Formats: sequence, structure tokens, C-alpha cells
Amino acid sequence: MVDLLGQYRRIKPEIDQAIQNVIDNTAFIKGPDVKAFEAELSQYLGVKHVIACGNGTDALQISLMALGLNPGDEVITPCFTFISTVEVSVLLGLTPVIADVEPGTFNIDIASLEKAITPRTKVIIPVHLFGQCANMDEVLRIANEHGITVIEDVAQALSASYTDWSGRKYKAGTMGRIGSTSFFPSKNLGCFGDGGAIITNDPVLADKMSAITHHGMRIRYHYDMTGVNSRLDTIQAAVLRVKLRYLDAYSAARNAAAGAYDQALRGLPGITIPERSSFSTHVFHQYTIRLNGINREALRKYLEARSIPTMVYYPVPVHLQKAFQYLGYKTGDFPVSEKLCESVLSLPMHTELNEEQINHITRSIIEFVNS
Ligand SMILES: *Cc1c(COP(=O)(O)O)cnc(C)c1O
Repeated sequence: MVDLLGQYRRIKPEIDQAIQNVIDNTAFIKGPDVKAFEAELSQYLGVKHVIACGNGTDALQISLMALGLNPGDEVITPCFTFISTVEVSVLLGLTPVIADVEPGTFNIDIASLEKAITPRTKVIIPVHLFGQCANMDEVLRIANEHGITVIEDVAQALSASYTDWSGRKYKAGTMGRIGSTSFFPSKNLGCFGDGGAIITNDPVLADKMSAITHHGMRIRYHYDMTGVNSRLDTIQAAVLRVKLRYLDAYSAARNAAAGAYDQALRGLPGITIPERSSFSTHVFHQYTIRLNGINREALRKYLEARSIPTMVYYPVPVHLQKAFQYLGYKTGDFPVSEKLCESVLSLPMHTELNEEQINHITRSIIEFVNS
């Protein structure tokens, strides 16, 4: 699905040097590369504060911890997504409330979001799924109307660009009060282990979230609040500083691959190519098609026999996960997400895909459909 080795080989001298420098300085924790990376990512995103932390799940948890919420406060999150947004809400004693998604873009459905609002709603976490932004004009309008905080989960869409109703452009993750991201190796900006970051323009929140990542400590061994231990290793920061310089080129490579997939698969019976939103660029964390009347497992086996990996992101919607049965949802509550879980298929998508590989993949799909 990804080719991290191929990507590394192209920038090996820079990466190796960056890692060697950290080892030579032995500043493995809170070394100078961490601050430098935070500053460089802030500048790239056009945002005032970036706080590095241990991973993307922690970034969401720390964001929620900084908001001074009370047990039972409600957090709205989409049904068709990775589990972190739900998991951290539960861990903090908050109540996750699920909203359905749009069938075309896979992002949070605005009508379903509005229906999910109650007097206890304190936070909305739109997830910019597979690489393009949710409808932030509407999310922010609803949030402002009800005095709700927005945390953008930008783990799959870092570097995507959003154009608001007035024509103003924002990087994904900088429109809500907080943005939260992950540098898991296979993300669009991935390090060589775990990593994450929190994004905000609010200096008070930034200070608080930074303290929370260090045990709630501002002055050494003086604890102002309950925190966690969640830091980005200096070695990971050094890797990310190098890779950030290539992020736009990586997005361009992913878009070129997506364009080639689109061209080959558009109009093929039983296959729907991913929809592009009018208000967001797409950075194709995943290239995900929808199948209609095609046996997904049979197609996967057919492709696998031709050395083509595929993945189902995601096979089970949040509300039908075993761990969250106690929330009281049932089959039929979120029909779009349920249908997507049965019909989506993600194709190989990364920065190193070449024309020959894409031709092999698309030819194999077309063969299967016509067989
Ligand atoms: C990867 C991911 C996360 C979690 O990031 P980790 O670094 O693996 O903890 C959260 N949300 C979304 C949408 C993700 O894709």
C-alpha cells in the first residue's frame, strides 16, 4: 500500500545526516530539532503555534484535556473514521456522539451533525478523511451558533488547502480552535516511528497544551494540572524537518497517481471513483473507490494474485464496534457509513507509484470487472 523504503532512498543522505547529528549531540529528548520543527511546521501551515507530541491519538487527547470539559460533556465525531476520536473521548469520561458521513466525500454529513447537537455538545471533531477537508464553512457556522469548540483531526489531510465562502484559503487544521495530527510512518508527512502535533492560533491554549504534554509542568517539578508524558523524539523531529521540505512534492506525486487512477477507472461499471470537494484540495492519503454490485473479496483476491495489495478503510463503522455498544446505537442508525464499510476499497497510494505500476493495477481491475 505504501513504499516507505523507496521514498527514503531518494532522500537518504539528508535523512542519515539529520539522524547522525542528533546521535552526535545525544539530545534525544527536547533537542533543538523539536523546537525547529515546530517553528517550521507553524510557518508552513500559517498558524501561530505547533506543539509536537508523541502521536496523533495523544494530540487529540491533549486537545480535549486542555478544554476544561466535564464528565458527560458530548463530543461529536463521524461514524466512518479511525477510532482515536471516540477512544480518547471515552478515556476522558466524555460522551461520544456519532454523526453520519457523506457518501461521496466520506466526510461528516452536515444534516446528521446538526441532528446530533444537544445542550451538552461541547466539541465537534470533524475528521478530514482520506486527504480532503470536511465542509468547514458549515461545521464552523454550526459550532459558532451553539458556542461549540471545533478540533480538526487533520491526521490524513495535512497540507490540504481549504477555500472558505469568502475565497480565503486556509491549510487544513488551522480553521478550528485546535488542529490535531499524526506523523505515523504511512501518513502524508510521516516520521520513522510515532509522532504527532497539535496546532492552534490561541496562545493560552498553546501554553496549556504544551504543559500537558510534559506532565502538566511549566516550571520543572511544579505541576499546574494533570498532564501526560507525550513527546516527539528529537530523532523523529530531525526526520520530519527534512521531509516537511518535500511535503508539497509528495502531495503532487499522490495527485498525479490519483489522476491516473481517475482516468483509467472513471465510468467503469460498478466502480465509483473518489469525489473531489469544490472547497478543498485533496492530498490523497488514500485513494478509495466504492463498489456497487462487485464482490469486494473476490476483487481483492484477484488483485492479490497479481501482487496488488488493497485495504478496506474501514470495515466496521464506529457505532457497531464491540467496544462502543454501550453507547446504545444499532444497525441502521448511520446507513451511509454502514454502506461504505461494505463497499469501499482503497488502492495502493503513495509517493513512489510509477506509471507501470498504476497501469498494472488499473488493467487488473478492468479485467476483473469485464470477466
Ligand atoms: C492515524 C490517525 C490518527 C491517530 O494517529 P496515531 O499517531 O496513530 O495515534 C487519528 N485520526 C486519524 C484520522 C488518523 O488517520
